[in-house]
Amino acid sequence: MFDPFTGETLVEGALRAPSAAVRLGLEPPRFCTQCGRRMIVQVAPDGWWARCSRHGTIDSLMNEQR
Ligand SMILES: [Zn+2]
Repeated sequence: MFDPFTGETLVEGALRAPSAAVRLGLEPPRFCTQCGRRMIVQVAPDGWWARCSRHGTIDSLMNEQR
């Protein structure tokens, strides 16, 4: 796993608290959590999407499913 906002490898027990914008789903991830590649990110007034060249696209609507 990779940190979606910094691209750093996530070490067990080293999870950082997400920012307020991240928790609200307003902040798009910048890096793929599966491979750590920098993703292509597009931010729109009503949401965002981010695309990894290997793992496909995620978007803010997907992020809101909980
Ligand atoms: Zn990926």
